[in-house]
Amino acid sequence: MTDTDKPYQLINALPDGAIVVDAAGLIMAANALAEDALGLKLPGVNVTAVLRNTAFSEALAQAREDGSPQTVDIEVRGRTPRQLSAHLAPMGKDGEVLILLRDLTREQAIEKMRSDFVANASHEMRTPLASIMGTIETLQGAAKNDAKARDMFLETMLGQARRMKRLIDDLLTLSRIELNEHVRPNAKVSLVDVARQAKSNLSSLAKEAKVSVEIASTSAVEVAGDAEELLQVVQNLLENAIKYGGSGGRVEISCEQTGRDGTLSVRDFGKGIAEVHIPRLTERFYRVNTQESRQRGGTGLGLAIVKHIMLRHRGRLDIDSDLGQGSAFSVSIPLYNS
Ligand code: ADP
Repeated sequence: MTDTDKPYQLINALPDGAIVVDAAGLIMAANALAEDALGLKLPGVNVTAVLRNTAFSEALAQAREDGSPQTVDIEVRGRTPRQLSAHLAPMGKDGEVLILLRDLTREQAIEKMRSDFVANASHEMRTPLASIMGTIETLQGAAKNDAKARDMFLETMLGQARRMKRLIDDLLTLSRIELNEHVRPNAKVSLVDVARQAKSNLSSLAKEAKVSVEIASTSAVEVAGDAEELLQVVQNLLENAIKYGGSGGRVEISCEQTGRDGTLSVRDFGKGIAEVHIPRLTERFYRVNTQESRQRGGTGLGLAIVKHIMLRHRGRLDIDSDLGQGSAFSVSIPLYNS
């Protein structure tokens, strides 16, 4: 390292990408974060060839001209496009400029997810609310003195109000799990007991849908977890298997030990799920068929809840499905005391 390199060693200690350019725009030094963000070795290259952006070139000229710091947002195209915020700080009269680059790609993706979520949740709430309001107006007007119509409309309103309640309950469940996600639950939970409880809780739904539920293996598998949350997982999976995979007439639950995990699988023999949907099923409000989900009382949040309970348990969810053959949803959770 020569003496002239020394002043630039500081940039290696910075938490953001940093580049120093000379008066002609040639890069004299760059830290590893800047090279990572831009995907190439930087010293010796002209900065305007790397950050090809009119607003950036103008900010650089301005910083040199009046010696004032400038901030500008830049989109870097490429295989993985990135959103950067560049802060340009002139460093003295010989025209050197320090450029700090903050990668906003992840922050912006999270922000977008948050605003999409609020938009989706509001939309889901508004639909039943609009139906309830429309029904009330009808009851106040045209159907005012029609007892038969009144009973029918009240039934509709009750159905829509229940739908809103399910949605709010699921949203609250999700936020409660997310709040506790960093605390791993560690009580001893028997997977077979959870399977039996879920089967019993959903027995009337299964009966109505003419689906028989079998617990195929009864070997004692004990995992480290929270019994109530694991019951919710198995109930969500079993309810889906009955609602969407019920055409096969039967659902099978099995529990086994797989290495250091206990695995519980819920298998149905119904219509299955096309491969394109599988990676997205755990997204909030993602459904293969929105109308079918709504008709069956779905909120589009069941598998998102399963995913977050698994994250909290340091476990995982695997989905295996063949169109026309059925689906298997399996959760694997570390064994108790493993
Ligand atoms: P929902 O409240 O709509 O049931 P989920 O998050 O539980 O929401 O499931 C998301 C979607 O995944 C469902 O709407 C359905 O399209 C699909 N799905 C879930 N389980 C099954 C299954 N066993 N067979 C076929 N499709 C399923």
